[in-house]
Amino acid sequence: MRVMVTGGAGYIGSVVTEELLKGGDEAVVYDSLYKGHREAVVEGATFVKGDLLDTAFLRDTLVKHRIEAVVHMAADSLVGESVKEPAKYFRNNVLGGLSLLDAMREAKVSSLVFSSTAAVYGEPAKQPIEESDPTEPTNPYGETKLAFERALRWYEGAYGVRFVSLRYFNAAGATERCGERHHPETHLIPLVLQAAAGERPDITVFGEDYATPDGTCVRDYIHVVDLAQAHVLALHALAKGHPSAIYNLGCGGEGYSVKQVIDCARRVTQRDIPVRVGARRPGDPAVLIASSSRIMRELGWRPQQQQLEAIVASAWRWMQRPRA
Ligand code: UDP
Repeated sequence: MRVMVTGGAGYIGSVVTEELLKGGDEAVVYDSLYKGHREAVVEGATFVKGDLLDTAFLRDTLVKHRIEAVVHMAADSLVGESVKEPAKYFRNNVLGGLSLLDAMREAKVSSLVFSSTAAVYGEPAKQPIEESDPTEPTNPYGETKLAFERALRWYEGAYGVRFVSLRYFNAAGATERCGERHHPETHLIPLVLQAAAGERPDITVFGEDYATPDGTCVRDYIHVVDLAQAHVLALHALAKGHPSAIYNLGCGGEGYSVKQVIDCARRVTQRDIPVRVGARRPGDPAVLIASSSRIMRELGWRPQQQQLEAIVASAWRWMQRPRA
Protein backbone atom coordinates (compact mmCIF):
# COMPACT_ATOMS: atom_id res chain seq x y z
CA MET A 1 0.00 0.00 0.00
CA ARG A 2 1.20 3.57 -0.69
CA VAL A 3 0.80 5.55 2.52
CA MET A 4 1.34 9.24 3.30
CA VAL A 5 2.60 9.90 6.84
CA THR A 6 2.10 13.49 7.96
CA GLY A 7 4.57 14.26 10.72
CA GLY A 8 6.79 11.39 9.59
CA ALA A 9 9.91 13.34 10.56
CA GLY A 10 8.85 13.31 14.20
CA TYR A 11 9.44 10.76 16.95
CA ILE A 12 6.42 8.48 16.55
CA GLY A 13 6.08 9.26 12.84
CA SER A 14 9.58 8.02 12.08
CA VAL A 15 8.88 4.71 13.84
CA VAL A 16 5.53 4.32 12.06
CA THR A 17 7.36 4.87 8.75
CA GLU A 18 9.96 2.28 9.73
CA GLU A 19 7.26 -0.29 10.50
CA LEU A 20 5.41 0.44 7.25
CA LEU A 21 8.55 -0.09 5.16
CA LYS A 22 9.42 -3.22 7.11
CA GLY A 23 6.03 -4.69 6.25
CA GLY A 24 6.44 -3.94 2.53
CA ASP A 25 4.32 -0.78 2.30
CA GLU A 26 5.56 2.39 0.61
CA ALA A 27 5.72 5.62 2.58
CA VAL A 28 5.68 9.28 1.63
CA VAL A 29 6.59 11.46 4.59
CA TYR A 30 4.87 14.87 4.49
CA ASP A 31 6.39 17.16 7.11
CA SER A 32 7.06 20.89 7.41
CA LEU A 33 10.16 20.24 9.58
CA TYR A 34 8.87 22.89 11.94
CA LYS A 35 9.37 20.37 14.74
CA GLY A 36 10.55 17.25 12.93
CA HIS A 37 14.09 16.47 11.83
CA ARG A 38 15.08 15.76 8.22
CA GLU A 39 17.51 13.07 9.40
CA ALA A 40 14.69 11.29 11.25
CA VAL A 41 12.99 10.51 7.91
CA VAL A 42 13.61 6.83 7.43
CA GLU A 43 15.74 5.72 4.51
CA GLY A 44 13.54 4.25 1.81
CA ALA A 45 10.70 6.72 2.41
CA THR A 46 10.03 9.60 0.00
CA PHE A 47 10.27 12.94 1.76
CA VAL A 48 8.05 15.90 0.84
CA LYS A 49 8.50 19.16 2.73
CA GLY A 50 5.15 20.83 3.02
CA ASP A 51 2.72 22.60 5.29
CA LEU A 52 -0.51 20.98 6.42
CA LEU A 53 -2.39 24.20 5.76
CA ASP A 54 -1.33 24.14 2.09
CA THR A 55 -4.35 22.15 0.85
CA ALA A 56 -3.47 22.43 -2.86
CA PHE A 57 0.06 21.13 -2.35
CA LEU A 58 -1.23 18.33 -0.13
CA ARG A 59 -3.74 17.33 -2.81
CA ASP A 60 -1.06 17.43 -5.52
CA THR A 61 1.23 15.28 -3.37
CA LEU A 62 -1.52 12.72 -2.75
CA VAL A 63 -2.26 12.54 -6.49
CA LYS A 64 1.36 12.55 -7.66
CA HIS A 65 2.33 9.65 -5.38
CA ARG A 66 -0.97 7.78 -5.94
CA ILE A 67 -1.50 7.61 -2.18
CA GLU A 68 -4.05 5.05 -0.98
CA ALA A 69 -4.21 5.89 2.73
CA VAL A 70 -2.96 8.54 5.16
CA VAL A 71 -1.54 8.35 8.68
CA HIS A 72 -2.05 11.80 10.20
CA MET A 73 0.38 12.54 13.01
CA ALA A 74 1.54 16.12 12.31
CA ALA A 75 0.33 18.15 15.29
CA ASP A 76 1.33 20.23 18.27
CA SER A 77 1.22 18.07 21.37
CA LEU A 78 2.26 19.87 24.55
CA VAL A 79 -0.43 20.23 27.17
CA GLY A 80 1.11 23.21 28.98
CA GLU A 81 1.84 25.12 25.78
CA SER A 82 -1.71 24.49 24.56
CA VAL A 83 -3.13 26.24 27.61
CA LYS A 84 -0.94 29.30 26.97
CA GLU A 85 -1.41 29.32 23.18
CA PRO A 86 -4.77 27.78 22.28
CA ALA A 87 -4.85 29.65 18.96
CA LYS A 88 -1.76 27.79 17.79
CA TYR A 89 -3.37 24.44 18.71
CA PHE A 90 -6.70 25.15 17.06
CA ARG A 91 -4.94 26.38 13.92
CA ASN A 92 -2.41 23.58 13.57
CA ASN A 93 -4.43 20.67 14.92
CA VAL A 94 -7.95 21.52 13.79
CA LEU A 95 -7.48 23.73 10.71
CA GLY A 96 -4.45 21.70 9.62
CA GLY A 97 -6.45 18.49 9.96
CA LEU A 98 -9.43 19.88 8.04
CA SER A 99 -7.07 21.02 5.27
CA LEU A 100 -5.82 17.43 5.02
CA LEU A 101 -9.39 16.10 4.85
CA ASP A 102 -10.20 18.58 2.04
CA ALA A 103 -7.11 17.50 0.12
CA MET A 104 -8.03 13.82 0.63
CA ARG A 105 -11.55 14.45 -0.70
CA GLU A 106 -10.19 16.18 -3.79
CA ALA A 107 -7.64 13.42 -4.36
CA LYS A 108 -10.23 10.71 -3.60
CA VAL A 109 -8.26 9.17 -0.77
CA SER A 110 -10.67 7.87 1.84
CA SER A 111 -8.69 5.95 4.50
CA LEU A 112 -7.15 7.70 7.46
CA VAL A 113 -5.39 6.62 10.65
CA PHE A 114 -5.32 9.48 13.13
CA SER A 115 -3.02 10.05 16.13
CA SER A 116 -5.30 10.93 18.97
CA THR A 117 -4.60 11.03 22.67
CA ALA A 118 -5.68 10.00 26.14
CA ALA A 119 -5.98 13.76 26.78
CA VAL A 120 -9.45 13.61 25.16
CA TYR A 121 -10.73 11.99 28.38
CA GLY A 122 -9.68 14.79 30.74
CA GLU A 123 -9.89 13.77 34.41
CA PRO A 124 -11.14 10.18 34.09
CA ALA A 125 -13.98 8.96 36.29
CA LYS A 126 -12.60 5.42 36.39
CA GLN A 127 -9.61 3.24 35.50
CA PRO A 128 -8.81 1.60 33.18
CA ILE A 129 -10.27 4.05 30.69
CA GLU A 130 -12.48 2.65 27.94
CA GLU A 131 -13.24 4.28 24.62
CA SER A 132 -16.89 4.72 25.59
CA ASP A 133 -15.98 6.76 28.70
CA PRO A 134 -16.86 10.47 28.74
CA THR A 135 -14.57 12.77 26.77
CA GLU A 136 -14.12 16.02 28.65
CA PRO A 137 -10.69 17.45 27.81
CA THR A 138 -9.12 19.71 30.39
CA ASN A 139 -6.77 21.46 27.97
CA PRO A 140 -6.76 22.76 24.36
CA TYR A 141 -4.46 19.95 23.23
CA GLY A 142 -7.05 17.28 24.10
CA GLU A 143 -9.86 19.55 22.90
CA THR A 144 -8.34 19.99 19.43
CA LYS A 145 -7.71 16.24 19.04
CA LEU A 146 -11.31 15.54 20.05
CA ALA A 147 -12.58 18.24 17.67
CA PHE A 148 -10.84 16.51 14.79
CA GLU A 149 -12.21 13.10 15.82
CA ARG A 150 -15.70 14.64 15.84
CA ALA A 151 -15.16 16.13 12.38
CA LEU A 152 -14.16 12.67 11.16
CA ARG A 153 -17.49 11.19 12.23
CA TRP A 154 -19.44 13.75 10.21
CA TYR A 155 -17.09 13.56 7.24
CA GLU A 156 -17.54 9.81 7.22
CA GLY A 157 -21.31 10.10 6.84
CA ALA A 158 -21.18 12.84 4.23
CA TYR A 159 -18.01 12.07 2.26
CA GLY A 160 -17.25 8.41 2.94
CA VAL A 161 -13.93 8.87 4.75
CA ARG A 162 -13.14 5.77 6.81
CA PHE A 163 -10.88 6.23 9.79
CA VAL A 164 -9.23 4.65 12.79
CA SER A 165 -8.45 7.05 15.59
CA LEU A 166 -5.76 5.82 17.98
CA ARG A 167 -5.83 7.39 21.43
CA TYR A 168 -2.25 7.11 22.64
CA PHE A 169 -1.35 6.86 26.28
CA ASN A 170 2.37 7.45 27.10
CA ALA A 171 4.53 6.57 24.10
CA ALA A 172 8.14 5.88 25.04
CA GLY A 173 11.24 3.94 24.02
CA ALA A 174 13.14 3.84 20.76
CA THR A 175 14.27 1.65 17.89
CA GLU A 176 17.89 1.34 16.85
CA ARG A 177 17.49 4.30 14.50
CA CYS A 178 14.58 6.36 15.79
CA GLY A 179 14.09 7.92 19.18
CA GLU A 180 12.64 10.86 21.05
CA ARG A 181 14.18 14.28 20.52
CA HIS A 182 11.95 17.21 21.35
CA HIS A 183 13.07 20.81 21.82
CA PRO A 184 12.35 21.65 24.51
CA GLU A 185 12.06 18.16 26.00
CA THR A 186 9.16 17.85 28.44
CA HIS A 187 8.58 14.09 28.62
CA LEU A 188 9.52 12.12 31.68
CA ILE A 189 11.61 9.24 30.30
CA PRO A 190 13.95 11.30 28.07
CA LEU A 191 14.38 13.86 30.87
CA VAL A 192 15.23 11.16 33.42
CA LEU A 193 17.76 9.66 31.01
CA GLN A 194 19.28 13.06 30.35
CA ALA A 195 19.77 13.38 34.10
CA ALA A 196 21.39 9.92 34.14
CA ALA A 197 23.71 10.99 31.32
CA GLY A 198 24.70 14.15 33.20
CA GLU A 199 23.09 16.35 30.54
CA ARG A 200 20.93 17.94 33.22
CA PRO A 201 21.60 18.19 36.94
CA ASP A 202 18.48 16.38 38.15
CA ILE A 203 14.88 15.46 37.48
CA THR A 204 12.00 17.26 39.12
CA VAL A 205 9.10 15.11 40.25
CA PHE A 206 5.92 17.08 39.64
CA GLY A 207 4.11 16.45 42.93
CA GLU A 208 4.27 13.59 45.40
CA ASP A 209 0.95 14.16 47.13
CA TYR A 210 -1.34 12.42 44.65
CA ALA A 211 -3.72 9.69 45.80
CA THR A 212 -1.50 6.95 44.36
CA PRO A 213 0.57 4.26 46.16
CA ASP A 214 3.76 6.37 46.31
CA GLY A 215 2.14 9.78 45.87
CA THR A 216 3.42 10.36 42.31
CA CYS A 217 1.40 10.23 39.08
CA VAL A 218 0.84 6.86 37.43
CA ARG A 219 0.93 6.51 33.65
CA ASP A 220 0.54 3.74 31.09
CA TYR A 221 3.82 3.60 29.11
CA ILE A 222 3.69 1.92 25.73
CA HIS A 223 6.69 1.06 23.57
CA VAL A 224 6.75 3.19 20.42
CA VAL A 225 7.19 0.07 18.23
CA ASP A 226 4.03 -1.49 19.68
CA LEU A 227 2.28 1.81 19.05
CA ALA A 228 3.58 1.96 15.47
CA GLN A 229 2.48 -1.59 14.75
CA ALA A 230 -1.07 -0.65 15.69
CA HIS A 231 -1.02 1.95 12.89
CA VAL A 232 0.02 -0.66 10.35
CA LEU A 233 -2.70 -3.05 11.55
CA ALA A 234 -5.28 -0.26 11.37
CA LEU A 235 -4.28 0.71 7.82
CA HIS A 236 -4.52 -2.84 6.59
CA ALA A 237 -7.83 -3.39 8.36
CA LEU A 238 -9.28 -0.26 6.70
CA ALA A 239 -8.04 -1.48 3.32
CA LYS A 240 -9.98 -4.70 3.90
CA GLY A 241 -13.16 -2.75 4.64
CA HIS A 242 -12.99 -2.52 8.43
CA PRO A 243 -15.50 0.08 9.67
CA SER A 244 -14.33 3.30 11.29
CA ALA A 245 -13.27 2.90 14.90
CA ILE A 246 -11.66 4.55 17.89
CA TYR A 247 -9.10 2.60 19.92
CA ASN A 248 -7.10 3.24 23.09
CA LEU A 249 -3.44 2.27 22.92
CA GLY A 250 -1.67 1.46 26.14
CA CYS A 251 -0.33 -1.60 27.93
CA GLY A 252 -2.90 -1.51 30.71
CA GLY A 253 -2.05 -3.29 33.96
CA GLU A 254 -1.07 -1.20 36.95
CA GLY A 255 0.97 1.39 35.05
CA TYR A 256 4.10 2.96 36.55
CA SER A 257 4.53 5.91 38.88
CA VAL A 258 7.03 8.72 38.28
CA LYS A 259 9.19 7.32 41.10
CA GLN A 260 9.05 3.81 39.60
CA VAL A 261 10.22 5.23 36.26
CA ILE A 262 13.17 6.94 37.96
CA ASP A 263 14.10 3.76 39.88
CA CYS A 264 13.86 1.74 36.70
CA ALA A 265 16.15 4.23 34.90
CA ARG A 266 18.68 3.92 37.75
CA ARG A 267 18.73 0.14 37.30
CA VAL A 268 18.97 0.31 33.52
CA THR A 269 21.66 2.99 33.34
CA GLN A 270 23.55 2.06 36.53
CA ARG A 271 23.88 5.80 37.10
CA ASP A 272 22.93 8.09 39.90
CA ILE A 273 19.86 10.22 39.12
CA PRO A 274 19.39 13.17 41.50
CA VAL A 275 15.75 13.96 42.20
CA ARG A 276 14.02 17.13 43.32
CA VAL A 277 10.39 17.26 44.31
CA GLY A 278 8.48 20.16 42.81
CA ALA A 279 4.90 21.35 42.57
CA ARG A 280 2.20 19.51 40.68
CA ARG A 281 2.04 20.30 36.96
CA PRO A 282 -1.33 21.90 36.19
CA GLY A 283 -3.68 19.61 34.29
CA ASP A 284 -1.99 16.32 35.30
CA PRO A 285 -4.52 13.64 36.27
CA ALA A 286 -3.27 11.32 39.06
CA VAL A 287 -3.68 8.10 37.07
CA LEU A 288 -4.13 7.36 33.36
CA ILE A 289 -4.39 3.69 32.44
CA ALA A 290 -5.83 2.40 29.19
CA SER A 291 -8.09 -0.48 28.54
CA SER A 292 -6.85 -1.59 25.13
CA SER A 293 -9.10 -4.62 24.95
CA ARG A 294 -11.08 -3.19 22.01
CA ILE A 295 -8.11 -3.01 19.63
CA MET A 296 -6.89 -6.40 20.88
CA ARG A 297 -10.26 -7.95 20.18
CA GLU A 298 -11.01 -6.23 16.88
CA LEU A 299 -7.59 -5.93 15.23
CA GLY A 300 -5.62 -8.60 17.10
CA TRP A 301 -3.09 -6.04 18.38
CA ARG A 302 -0.78 -7.28 21.17
CA PRO A 303 1.97 -5.22 22.81
CA GLN A 304 5.28 -7.10 22.65
CA GLN A 305 7.40 -4.94 24.97
CA GLN A 306 5.29 -4.23 28.02
CA GLN A 307 8.08 -4.22 30.59
CA LEU A 308 9.16 -0.74 31.59
CA GLU A 309 12.77 -1.99 31.76
CA ALA A 310 12.67 -2.88 28.06
CA ILE A 311 11.14 0.48 27.15
CA VAL A 312 13.64 2.51 29.18
CA ALA A 313 16.59 0.37 28.02
CA SER A 314 15.70 0.96 24.36
CA ALA A 315 15.54 4.73 24.93
CA TRP A 316 18.89 4.63 26.77
CA ARG A 317 20.57 2.63 23.97
CA TRP A 318 19.31 5.17 21.47
CA MET A 319 20.62 8.09 23.53
CA GLN A 320 24.02 6.40 23.85
CA ARG A 321 24.26 5.56 20.14
CA PRO A 322 27.39 6.66 18.32
CA ARG A 323 26.71 9.90 16.49
CA ALA A 324 28.36 11.26 13.38
N1 UDP B 1 6.77 14.38 35.00
C1 UDP B 1 7.58 14.74 36.09
N2 UDP B 1 8.70 15.48 35.85
C2 UDP B 1 9.06 15.89 34.59
C3 UDP B 1 8.23 15.51 33.49
C4 UDP B 1 7.10 14.75 33.74
O1 UDP B 1 7.30 14.40 37.24
O2 UDP B 1 10.07 16.59 34.45
C5 UDP B 1 5.57 13.56 35.26
C6 UDP B 1 4.28 14.21 34.79
O3 UDP B 1 3.75 15.02 35.81
C7 UDP B 1 3.41 12.99 34.47
C8 UDP B 1 4.43 11.92 34.05
O4 UDP B 1 5.70 12.37 34.50
O5 UDP B 1 2.77 12.54 35.64
C9 UDP B 1 4.48 11.74 32.56
O6 UDP B 1 4.64 13.01 31.95
P1 UDP B 1 4.95 13.21 30.42
O7 UDP B 1 5.10 14.69 30.16
O8 UDP B 1 6.09 12.31 30.03
O9 UDP B 1 3.67 12.64 29.67
P2 UDP B 1 2.11 13.02 29.81
O10 UDP B 1 1.54 12.07 30.84
O11 UDP B 1 1.99 14.46 30.16
O12 UDP B 1 1.57 12.72 28.44
